Amino acid sequence: MKRILIKNARIVNENEVFNGSVIIENEIISEILRDGKEPLATCDEVIDAGQQYLLPGIIDDHVHFREPGLTHKADIFSESRAAVAGGVTSFMDMPNVQPQTTTLETLEQKFELGAKNSIINYSFYFGATNNNTELLKSLDKTRVCGIKLFMGSSTGNMLVDRMAALERIFNKANILVAAHCEDQNIIRQNTEAIKAQYGEDPDVSLHPVIRNAEACYSSSSLAVSLARKTDARLHILHVTTGKELQLFEDKPIKDKKITSEACIAHLFFSKDDYATLGTRIKCNPAIKEVTNRDALRKALNSNLIDVIGTDHAPHLLTEKIGGTLKAASGMPMIQFSLVTMMELVKEGILSIEQLVQKMCHAPAELYEIHHRGYIREGYQADLVLVNPNAEWEVTSQNILSKCAWSPLEGHRFTSKVEKTFVNGKLVYDSGLVDETYRGEELKFRLQ
Ligand SMILES: [Zn+2]
Repeated sequence: MKRILIKNARIVNENEVFNGSVIIENEIISEILRDGKEPLATCDEVIDAGQQYLLPGIIDDHVHFREPGLTHKADIFSESRAAVAGGVTSFMDMPNVQPQTTTLETLEQKFELGAKNSIINYSFYFGATNNNTELLKSLDKTRVCGIKLFMGSSTGNMLVDRMAALERIFNKANILVAAHCEDQNIIRQNTEAIKAQYGEDPDVSLHPVIRNAEACYSSSSLAVSLARKTDARLHILHVTTGKELQLFEDKPIKDKKITSEACIAHLFFSKDDYATLGTRIKCNPAIKEVTNRDALRKALNSNLIDVIGTDHAPHLLTEKIGGTLKAASGMPMIQFSLVTMMELVKEGILSIEQLVQKMCHAPAELYEIHHRGYIREGYQADLVLVNPNAEWEVTSQNILSKCAWSPLEGHRFTSKVEKTFVNGKLVYDSGLVDETYRGEELKFRLQ
């Protein structure tokens, strides 16, 4: 049995930061030693962390890796490679691919693609439509992370807005329903009004006027009321407004059935950034006023926002040409999610313990992931070593996503991911990815 010792680390876990060492045996964290305590048995390999932070690997509950069918934009191999370079060790991928993941067959095909192509651990959402509710009860609760519900159209055509269908989905779902909430009628009205004033394809700065706070609140409050009525397990994705926060309870995850996610782009950018970044930061729901961004940031210090995801949604730059109606919505983000949040830690927006809570522990708890998301003895050794004092710049040379651009190009970060372990294997090390490694299927709700 191979034993790896990571010593002299500042371990961030379960609301504390302490000096210590971790021993990995094969795939598992076998021992956690506090302070300078030496291991009893010898280790085959010793890594001196030099007082860098050792965190549980990031679990991203919201990605679009575009496979199958949209692989000119991205694929599971390319994006899991970018992810591991960013300290992400597990992802949950959305169903708006081609063909859409809305049948048991297409779901099975995605699991096969994950096993074949993913460098990190993976799971896949099942897409709910107006007419596949009968399949929901046959989903394997231990394999499928959740049901994705588009309440309001986004990229791909999985809009579910007939009230009867919505209620049926909430009733039949026996696992978590993750919802994209934007009211289609409000968006349609806003679009017509803006087009009448500004022409066929208005400037991207009008995106948050079309997809406004009212559209978000109208849809998320409907989702919350339906979930309450049916006692469903609801997770509202990419919350973008301060107003929506009043729909949630400031309670631990275990004490509630309605939870929420905020995404990196909405926590980092605001409407003011359209002037310099244009359609690169166009996404749905839209990036809004700085007051909304700041309300989301504040909520990270409570349980009003439970998890931080990326909504990593790559497009080619040529697909991002145009204004608010023509340019594609979504941006790549997964490679830089951890370092972006480290910037907010340095700004005092949240503590590093809270970062680990929202990006590692909370997704594990919320989705009931088996033995991941914490630095605990007996858990899978998904770990990331972060240097908090290393300045570097995002350039076209170090972007690993297939689309080869980032809204963060030119941004200088002051923290750097040095090493990422996936199931005890050092898969990312100082700029190099072990492309031969394959991750494991995430397991959920095991008793
Ligand atoms: Zn998404």
